[in-house]
Amino acid sequence: MERSKKDTTEIMESLSQAGLNPTAQRIAVFQYIHNDSDHPTPEQVKDAVDRVFPTISLATIYNTLNALVAHGLVHQVKIPHSGRVVYDANTSKHYHFIDEAEGKLIDLNQESITVDMNLPEHFDIQDVDIFVKGKLKG
Ligand SMILES: [Zn+2]
Repeated sequence: MERSKKDTTEIMESLSQAGLNPTAQRIAVFQYIHNDSDHPTPEQVKDAVDRVFPTISLATIYNTLNALVAHGLVHQVKIPHSGRVVYDANTSKHYHFIDEAEGKLIDLNQESITVDMNLPEHFDIQDVDIFVKGKLKG
């Protein structure tokens, strides 16, 4: 799914509308996740933002990511059984395909998967998250 890129003004507007002061670091982190990456890890975010802020610490990156998540601008995705955490600029409900050869996440529309549950009544389901594993053909 292609996201349309946001210019710096739109990035600042999104931060402000979400209730975050658009600091230079937040702008750099959100712009990278939104425009220039695909499900990056915190380390990948740091590598990219380092080019603009060479002295930024990983702790600051984490604080910035946590603020973006808390204000709904990005989602944190924990990849099952891997310990990997990545950040997702696609904040609409979707599932993921894991390309096991590349370790890459690909967004799947909710409509592309039908979940037919037949669980005992005492399971009070809050949410369904699906990771489909495989490889891309061709
Ligand atoms: Zn995603």
